[in-house]
Amino acid sequence: MSPIEERANEVPAEESGGPSDEIAAHGAVVVGGRGSVQWSQPPLRCAKVPRIVPRSPRPRRFSYYARLSPEDKAIYRQSDAIASIDVPDVAALQPLVAALEEALAVGKRVRVASAAVALSDALLRQLGAPPVKIHVREVRPRFEAGELHGLYTFAQGGKVPKLEVWMRTAAHAKTVKFRTFLRTLLHELLHHLDVTVLGLGESFHTEGFFRRESSLVRQLAGTRPKPPPLPKKEQLTLF
Ligand SMILES: [Zn+2]
Repeated sequence: MSPIEERANEVPAEESGGPSDEIAAHGAVVVGGRGSVQWSQPPLRCAKVPRIVPRSPRPRRFSYYARLSPEDKAIYRQSDAIASIDVPDVAALQPLVAALEEALAVGKRVRVASAAVALSDALLRQLGAPPVKIHVREVRPRFEAGELHGLYTFAQGGKVPKLEVWMRTAAHAKTVKFRTFLRTLLHELLHHLDVTVLGLGESFHTEGFFRRESSLVRQLAGTRPKPPPLPKKEQLTLF
């Protein structure tokens, strides 16, 4: 059975915030047969991650949908209809998730990069996806829509696609929270999965896309126990 589950009729969701048109409305030109796609737009810049809260009976489309070509609208609807990605062997990935969390806590970029590559490679292998080159960067660059969390550069000229994630905030250069970093990494990997495993001719930020992202976060980090609260006595000794 394919790890990708299509659940078009699953309880839909409504996002708060949502992607800006500038981020979401990228496109591609299909120039040949299956899998022959020439990307006509710059890399995907992913700056914020909306929270999906189940509310409405049907998935809501983002406003940029109205401006898409009929072909892209069809891809958008396909993307919207896929609500989750089932990871075949979550248990095998748990040590890699834990290693990434530890690396981020230490705050050394090389160590974070190594852990991010190990986790991503293992996840992509399980899902039958081709490899992607991963770069972990230090401080998030600022741009007009905020600060850049991640970037996915589609394969061009036979090269391996590139994925970049930043591990420090633009404001104070603090290490980003683990769950935020993991979500960004999975978000960018999802762009990769969209155009490889899912066979979508484009990777749009749709409600279905964000629900797939949440499904991956839940599987990889959702069941991990939170650290217990500090005993009252110890709390008093902290300054
Ligand atoms: Zn994105």
